[in-house]
Amino acid sequence: MTERTKTVAIVGAGVFGLSLAVALRRRGYNVTVFDQHRYDETRYQPGYDDSVQSASVDHNKIFRASYGTKLHYQRLAMESRKAWVSLNKTRKHSQEDNADLFVNCGMLRVQPSEHLGALEKETLANMQREGLRDTQFVKSYPEDRERAHTLGWESKLLDFEIPETSPPKTFEAVLDSLAGYTKCSEACAYFQKLAEAEGVKFHFGQEEGKFDSLVEETLPDSGQKRAIGLKTKDGVFHRADTVAIAAGSFSTQLLPDLSYHLESSGGSVVTFKIEKSDAGLWEKYSPERFPVITWKSAARSKDGKDIGSVYVFPRTEDGLIKIGYRGIKFTNFRPAPKGTPFTQHDQWSIPLAPKESLKIPQPAIDAIRNFVSIFLPEFEHVAFHSTKLCWYTDSLDNSFVVGVSEQ
Ligand SMILES: Cc1cc2nc3c(=O)[nH]c(=O)nc-3n(C[C@H](O)[C@H](O)[C@H](O)COP(=O)(O)OP(=O)(O)OC[C@H]3O[C@@H](n4cnc5c(N)ncnc54)[C@H](O)[C@@H]3O)c2cc1C
Repeated sequence: MTERTKTVAIVGAGVFGLSLAVALRRRGYNVTVFDQHRYDETRYQPGYDDSVQSASVDHNKIFRASYGTKLHYQRLAMESRKAWVSLNKTRKHSQEDNADLFVNCGMLRVQPSEHLGALEKETLANMQREGLRDTQFVKSYPEDRERAHTLGWESKLLDFEIPETSPPKTFEAVLDSLAGYTKCSEACAYFQKLAEAEGVKFHFGQEEGKFDSLVEETLPDSGQKRAIGLKTKDGVFHRADTVAIAAGSFSTQLLPDLSYHLESSGGSVVTFKIEKSDAGLWEKYSPERFPVITWKSAARSKDGKDIGSVYVFPRTEDGLIKIGYRGIKFTNFRPAPKGTPFTQHDQWSIPLAPKESLKIPQPAIDAIRNFVSIFLPEFEHVAFHSTKLCWYTDSLDNSFVVGVSEQ
């Protein structure tokens, strides 16, 4: 007798829902994915900012393997890097447009001062441990510069002056030649198509794709509850042996049990726009010439304000330079439903609606403007092209949450 094929319903067609769908399908499961957004129509394109709220819908995301003391992350990242490089090759073979979904433009980790920070030293030690130290170039080390020169990376070892130093000093920096960025929206569109071609079913939209509730049954012997599927907003019941919640920063609202582990917080993202006709800037900020830059600024500015860390990407093919700020966690506390297992004085932080996420808080603007004045001086007095709060799914230890909910 053959065993019945197990069915899995996945809520969320972001990068986690999609990768889970492909992985399970390849292990023989019957997989159905639900999402409230019509990705079948929008193809995950960014630019629907007033109606789409999803961390995976974006122009680009940093790819890096540098994680300080967290060697296991470094190893996971190297494993995933292999997969991205191989995917680029496969797509080139099949002559896809804009084949590279991973762009290996390098990442410059600019330090808070003219010296290497403690975390940076840990990263370099872990790179050394895994035989990867040759891929990292410390700006002030002559032997690293030499190697960068030989390997064609030296032009990305950029100098940035530390404000108000006399004689002028520049920030220490480490160029990571393993790093770069992924075109995350394009990658999601690619994997959604791939999943569909491999037999994963999709339901998209505010009615047939939006999760309404879990459907549960009570086990007669133990009295425990078990999910037997889910109901979507159109009232349809979808039976499944397993329901997986991969709804990003919305996950707690779908499964309040997660409120102990997860919280939504907003990261601030802005863009500047360069026109192709502005040949100097177009060239200077291209991925061929400009790396991803991250700057963990000194913890406190002179007036005591926390500055946090800021990062910038090379321009996209549409001329957008994206800058992100990660410092103060911006939360949106609202009354939590009765019975939520974990709250803060009966409140929890959930994402703001897309339309309300189009403004960013003043401390983020200050930090980004400070960054721009040092790292992108041409834009010091230029208005932002766009601003947006993009919602993180923060966990207690900033790591993955993978588990089974038992009731
Ligand atoms: C500002 C910011 C910057 C980041 N930068 C980086 C970076 O540089 N590098 C990096 O590696 N990572 C980065 N991340 C993290 C990365 O973006 C996320 O880890 C990843 O995108 C999360 O994917 P996900 O599938 O879990 O969630 P999401 O992409 O948010 O997807 C969740 C999906 O669930 C759907 N959903 C929600 N509720 C329902 C419902 N009721 N019914 C049906 N569907 C529903 C949503 O529509 C959405 O499509 C960043 C995150 C943020 C917020």
